[in-house]
This record gives sequence, structure tokens and C-alpha cells, in this order.
Amino acid sequence: MVVKINENYLKLKSSYLFVEVARREAEFQKNNPDADIIKMGIGDVTKPLAPSVIKAFQGAVDEMGNADTFRGYGPEQGYDFLAEEIIKNDFEPFGVSLDTDEVFISDGAKCDTGNIQEIFDLGNKIAVTDPVYTVYVDTNVMAGRTGEMKDDGMYEGLTYLKCNAENEFVPELPEEDVDIIYLCYPNNPTGTTLTYDQLKVFVDYAIEHKAIILFDAAYECFIREDDVPHTIYEIEGAKNVAIEFRSFSKMAGFTGTRCAYTVVPKEVAGYDSKGNEVQLNQLWNRRQTTKFNGVSYPVQVAAAAVYSDDGKKEIKEIIDYYMENAKVIKSSLEKLGLEVYGGVNSPYIWVKTPNNMDSWAFFDLLLNEANVVGTPGSGFGPSGEGYLRLTAFNTLENTKEAMDRISKLNF
Ligand code: PLP
Repeated sequence: MVVKINENYLKLKSSYLFVEVARREAEFQKNNPDADIIKMGIGDVTKPLAPSVIKAFQGAVDEMGNADTFRGYGPEQGYDFLAEEIIKNDFEPFGVSLDTDEVFISDGAKCDTGNIQEIFDLGNKIAVTDPVYTVYVDTNVMAGRTGEMKDDGMYEGLTYLKCNAENEFVPELPEEDVDIIYLCYPNNPTGTTLTYDQLKVFVDYAIEHKAIILFDAAYECFIREDDVPHTIYEIEGAKNVAIEFRSFSKMAGFTGTRCAYTVVPKEVAGYDSKGNEVQLNQLWNRRQTTKFNGVSYPVQVAAAAVYSDDGKKEIKEIIDYYMENAKVIKSSLEKLGLEVYGGVNSPYIWVKTPNNMDSWAFFDLLLNEANVVGTPGSGFGPSGEGYLRLTAFNTLENTKEAMDRISKLNF
């Protein structure tokens, strides 16, 4: 007898995008020790936690050090005090009411969007947009819902909904019937959004096909335009067919602190093999209570402080700062005659490579000639080829400097 592994893992393409980006960057730095590289690649925030968040965080840590206020295990689904703030601030202003037991607090939208597929049968047909936040794809590969990756960069058995300049980054409905559709808006990596009407097309499809939408709204806080839904539940009927993922990572700088949440309305259902309806809320609750032991109390207190009056003000300032960077990037690159997408309701700017260069060639050009690091679009899926992603998370000073350097290049 030998230990057998989950061979689905072997189907994964080993080169993790950001590892290759870091490798090229390190090699360049080694050969050019004096080069001052500006990083606009990985989507991580740079600003520290807001003062009111820190104050609440510290207060809760003190509580943990006092026998009278110490807390051990909390509810796996998160504390009601945070779920109540989430509902009051993130949903009610948009006319969406939820119960606290429809909100599951977790330590990340990455794990939630990755784990959610566990509650669905392996036989379900999955659709993703292309390019895509790769977690949706890789976790379905790991689970065995796909075949091998084909020469065109797509996994067998997965439906890819192409998003590029030709369709203005609005995916078309799948041609074949699918059961589960992952949507991410504002989008990572393209930075584009869907309007109410465009999102409604998908909700209507899901209603008609008894399908489910897994809606990742990790970048909701960057929405600036009126015609962009803040939550999928603003669309009529969505509560019956959609699960929504949110995160404090980009909204409040929690990438290193870890807090997120997933909304599973009680109305949203799947079917057993006999055709009986089963509440997905019940299944996700079972999954989380079995495999997860909740987010630490101080982190949940810190997250709740995001919704205090001061917290809201402080966080808005930080988001506005990043969005100013996005504006600088977008307008500078447009001035150079480049085709630029995103950056209006998102910290991501998706640049069409000049002269039909491929994504890695443009990446290398920016690294070698301007000492600016982006992320090659091809790493996000076949339709990302010919694009490069820049992020607005650096300082304004560095962002301007990067744009200055790029403007001196000859394309
Ligand atoms: N969803 C999308 C689309 C993301 O881009 C990211 C992070 O980059 C995440 C989820 C992960 O969020 P979290 O930090 O909450 O795990």
C-alpha cells in the first residue's frame, strides 16, 4: 500500500503568477542594485489601519487580558455585533434586509470563495469570467470538477466567459447550460464593472436555469458611479440565486489582519438528487461550524469599528487616496495614447499592451526600462493576454514617479 494523493492537484499549472513576477523582479534588482523599483503589481494595500480601528482593536486585546472580559471560542459564524453593523451599513442603505444568521464572518474572501464549492456536487457545470481571480478556477480543479488544462490555457470542462475590449468587458451568457457562475464586480483584474441591467441579465439567467451566482464584491468600496450595483441583492430575485462575498481587506486595510464575510440568504437553494430543495445557508452553516472556529474577537471588534462614524470618515480618506492614484494612472496612460480600462470604480487599471506586445513582453519592458512592476494579464486567463494590470495601492508620490518614467518610454 502507498499513500495516494489527490491527483487533481497535479492538473494545476505550477507557476503561480506572483511567484514568477517576484522572480523576475528579484533578478532585475540583483543585476541592477541601484534601481528604485516601483511595485504596482500585487493587489495589497499599503496604508496602515485607521486610528479608530486600531483603538478598538487595542481595547479588545486588553479585554482578552482580563479575567472578567476574556473570551474563548466565539460563534463560528461570527459575533452578532459585527453582523448587525454589516447589515445596517452595507446592505440596508441599498434597500436590502438580511438576518444576522445570513451573514457568515470569516478570515477571508479568498478562503470563502475557495471553500464554497465544497457544498456543491462535483457534477455541476461551472462558468467563470476570463480573465479571472484564479482562486475560483484552481479550487474547482483541486476538487476534480475539471479535466486537464488544454493548449489554449483553459481547463477541460470549465466554461470561460470571455471579457475583453471587444465586448467592453461585459461577459456574454454561457452558450451551454451551467449550474454555477462566478462573477466578481468591480472586477479583479480588469477593474471594470457591470451596470444594474447587465447584472440583471445574469440574475435572470440563474432564476431561469435554477443556477447559482457566486458574487465576489471584495472591491465594492471603490464604486463611484451611480449605475453600478453595490450588492447583487439590489437586483430583483437575486436573493433566491446568489451568494455574495465581501472583505475588509481592501475596504479597510485588513489584508494582514484578516476579516471578511459571506452572505447566504435563506431563500437561496440547491437540489438533492431526488430534486428536493435544500437551503444553501444550512449547508454553509454546517461547513463552517465543522471546519472553522471563527475570527478572533479583537479582529471582529476592529472590523466593527470600521462602521463607527470616525471609522467611516477615516476609511473614506484612505480609499479616496487610492482612487486618486487610480485617476493619475488612468489619465497619464491615456495621454500616452494607451488603451486603458478600469480605475474608475476600482483600484485596478487594465492596460492594453502597445503594438500587440504580449503581456510578459510589456511586463519586461516596464520593469527593465521604467523599473515599474505590473502584473501580466495572461496570468489571469487566456483572455488576459495582451493586457497588463497596474494597481493604485502605492503612494501618490511613487505613482506619479512611475507614470513619469513610463511617459519617457518609446512604445
Ligand atoms: N476576491 C478577490 C476578487 C480578490 O482580488 C481578493 C484579493 O486580492 C480576494 C477575494 C481575497 O480577499 P481576502 O483578503 O479577504 O482573502
